[in-house]
Amino acid sequence: DNAIEIDGLTKTYRGRFGQKEKRALKGVSLSVPRGSFFGLLGPNGAGKSTLINIMAGLVTKTAGTVRIWGADIDRDERGARLAIGVVPQELNLDPFFTPRELLEVQAGLYGVPKAERRTDEILALVGLSDKADAYARTLSGGMRRRLLVAKAMVHAPPILVLDEPTAGVDIELRQQLWEQVKELNRRGTTILLTTHYLEEAQELCDRIAIINHGDVVACEPKDTLLKRL
Ligand code: ADP
Ligand code: ADP
Repeated sequence: DNAIEIDGLTKTYRGRFGQKEKRALKGVSLSVPRGSFFGLLGPNGAGKSTLINIMAGLVTKTAGTVRIWGADIDRDERGARLAIGVVPQELNLDPFFTPRELLEVQAGLYGVPKAERRTDEILALVGLSDKADAYARTLSGGMRRRLLVAKAMVHAPPILVLDEPTAGVDIELRQQLWEQVKELNRRGTTILLTTHYLEEAQELCDRIAIINHGDVVACEPKDTLLKRL
């Protein structure tokens, strides 16, 4: 069984307020093997965020099926949601929450019992142990990103999805973040990452799908794909 199985997925945003309809996904099929580090590569506007937001239950699909760790998002929404942690593109964080508080609140939302919470362990994993009790407003951009990774890991999902994690991040922080995500993958988490940097997909991913104008135009192991480019 695959970690993620997408079949014939379409999304048409209805044009409200006189806007035109937008076909953001035009029948996407995709399989993400368990344990893989999967890259979804494509330019701005290709449909990457739409795809991720559908998996995360934030956007409704128009047609097609999506199975996450075996759970169909139509039939077992809760199962699908528990299997996935999403690191959003925006660095929105309440400025007066500390990392420890944020992770505790998140654990509460997911119903993780107190005895099973791994707040300190997760903060250590993303290198934020010494910032555990600092207000989020005092954290750098790189630290905020890592805190959002930690937040997505609170319910110990087998799949972690990162939407353009290094957009606007400087080269040094990018390297740090890459190392951390690689380590999560080595420990068994399936990673799906979107990016518009070929270099990033090349460095990290063992499989790459290319998406453009709502169509997946190629999907194969990195080595064979890069030979053709
Ligand atoms: P549903 O998920 O219930 O099908 P839609 O996602 O189709 O609803 O509706 C979202 C609406 O929000 C769009 O039709 C559009 O008017 C507006 N909107 C939100 N974000 C954007 C965006 N990035 N570009 C254009 N319109 C947007
Ligand atoms: P990417 O993440 O690859 O940049 P998106 O999934 O954000 O691509 O967008 C795909 C297309 O759908 C774009 O043309 C975008 O403008 C459009 N779009 C995204 N969200 C909405 C929305 N809520 N309503 C209408 N159009 C949208």
